[in-house]
Amino acid sequence: MTQLQNLSQAFDILVVGAGAAGLYTALCLPSTLSVGLITKDTVSLSASDWAQGGIAAAMSPEDSPSLHLEDTIAAGAGLCDLAAVTFLAQNAPSCIQSLVNMGVAFDRQGEQLALTLEAAHSRRRVLHAADTTGKEVITTLTAQVLQRQNIQILQQTLALSLWLNPQTGRCQGISLIYNNRIIWVRAKAVVLGTGGGGQVFAHTTNPAVSTGDGVAMAWRSGATLRDLEFFQFHPTALTIPGANSFLISEAVRGEGAHLVDDTGRRFAFDYHPKGELAPRDVVSRAIFTHLQNNATDPAKANVWLDLRPIPKEKISHRFPNIIQVCQRWGLDVFSQPIPVAPAAHYWMGGIETDLSNRTSIPGLYAVGETASTGVHGANRLASNSLLECIVFGAQMANLELEEVSLIEQSSSSESVFQLSTSGWDSGQATLASIREQLPRLVWQSAGICREQKSLESGIAQVEILQKEFTKLPLSQFLLDLPAAQIGSFDKETPHQQLYLWGETRNLLDIAYLILQSALFRTESRGGHYRQDYPQTDRDWQVHTLVKKDRVWKSQLVE
Ligand SMILES: Cc1cc2nc3c(=O)[nH]c(=O)nc-3n(C[C@H](O)[C@H](O)[C@H](O)COP(=O)(O)OP(=O)(O)OC[C@H]3O[C@@H](n4cnc5c(N)ncnc54)[C@H](O)[C@@H]3O)c2cc1C
Repeated sequence: MTQLQNLSQAFDILVVGAGAAGLYTALCLPSTLSVGLITKDTVSLSASDWAQGGIAAAMSPEDSPSLHLEDTIAAGAGLCDLAAVTFLAQNAPSCIQSLVNMGVAFDRQGEQLALTLEAAHSRRRVLHAADTTGKEVITTLTAQVLQRQNIQILQQTLALSLWLNPQTGRCQGISLIYNNRIIWVRAKAVVLGTGGGGQVFAHTTNPAVSTGDGVAMAWRSGATLRDLEFFQFHPTALTIPGANSFLISEAVRGEGAHLVDDTGRRFAFDYHPKGELAPRDVVSRAIFTHLQNNATDPAKANVWLDLRPIPKEKISHRFPNIIQVCQRWGLDVFSQPIPVAPAAHYWMGGIETDLSNRTSIPGLYAVGETASTGVHGANRLASNSLLECIVFGAQMANLELEEVSLIEQSSSSESVFQLSTSGWDSGQATLASIREQLPRLVWQSAGICREQKSLESGIAQVEILQKEFTKLPLSQFLLDLPAAQIGSFDKETPHQQLYLWGETRNLLDIAYLILQSALFRTESRGGHYRQDYPQTDRDWQVHTLVKKDRVWKSQLVE
């Protein structure tokens, strides 16, 4: 891992993010290029690392890429991009083979790769490594990256903003919080692999790093974004007061677990003939509605997932991690139902990209959950997202880097923020309060069920928080810092405080964008459900596009 010594350092490519998208992209980029791989935490913290269920690919003789395509399109509720899904499904088997060649130890049945069935897949096509598939993939990719001479990893480094060439509008670097300073690093191209934004909701399965940074940075720089209202809510996250919402994989219901309410009644069939195995959004809404109708305080209530219908040996073999996490909270999955509730899980929308991961800003690419390639449409098919990171990451092997002259360092001067005289403490308290309030208000106004009134009120509240944020002395210092100018502090600043500032700014931006997009779309489809417009409307078979303050509809998606 590298220490970045000076500002003149430049890379051919900067990859932001060390999840499956960032790591695989870095590995696939031509090895003749110097690559800076940036992550705001350690390499081991990402949603990819937490992925449990697996990764989809048509590998069995009974399956085919065209069946995988059909299932993906059906899940996407009319908004998938056919070319992108075709590309995903056709390239899935070879990408899995490349992971196996790198050393990813997927579970096997005899000599063959073991394949499991997940909801809405018509065939067994989900490869897995027990219930810690993501960890297995990330550990292997990290080991590969560490062997590569051309890749330098910068950990504990937060990308703040894109650095556009003022003459050409081309992305030629980024600003970073590094070692408690703001620095600017140049590159001929930047790839965003910053993952999702689940932290904008009060209940989420996502890790703390999922604060929508890539989407927010790209939006501030004028990139076109797409379908930001589509968020998938996972029906079964463990709900223990004081604990994070730990995901209880879909595969648990796939193997036969029952959802029951406080009275022990199996209620999912009241809402859909497939019961617990209905699509995720249907099961999430069933739980939401059931709690609204039956619980005294629905916001704090939960239902229960009963694993006892699954044979004990199967639970032990398939779900060792879930058993362990539940044990840590004093829950024995073999003898008692566990408390669960829906939580924000996967962001289908993101930065609009083409099949080569290009965004609308020259020199800027996006891969993984931060991108909107069109493969997920309005609702993601389970286990297609890790796959997307790999299939689209592999595309970066074909990158043809334009010979561009990098921005000259206009100044090496430093602006120093006077911590001692700047009302730092009260500013930090305000910042912490915004960070605490925001996810609760987004959950209430743009959660599982939305409507005009609550969306409008959510937008108004976010605008108030945005004003408070802008007034902070730290905001005034950092927002006014000219491009290329280093920012530093007159005494030691805990880097967590600077991170809190950067992430809160991004969360405010994505909260606003999600609310605006959800208000714009006056129908229900996939991961977006409007109580005031509960039907899917053919005229709305369009993408929501956003650029700066403009929100508009694409042409009809055929
Ligand atoms: C609990 C859980 C289980 C899941 N299970 C599955 C599954 O079984 N199958 C499946 O296909 N999908 C699953 N998903 C979804 C899938 O894991 C993600 O969609 C996918 O891993 C996203 O990968 P990514 O590389 O785009 O982002 P991530 O893996 O989230 O990586 C993002 C990286 O960007 C870094 N980063 C972010 N912002 C900045 C910044 N400003 N500066 C520097 N670094 C930054 C982060 O530190 C991190 O390294 C699951 C998700 C969760 C949360």
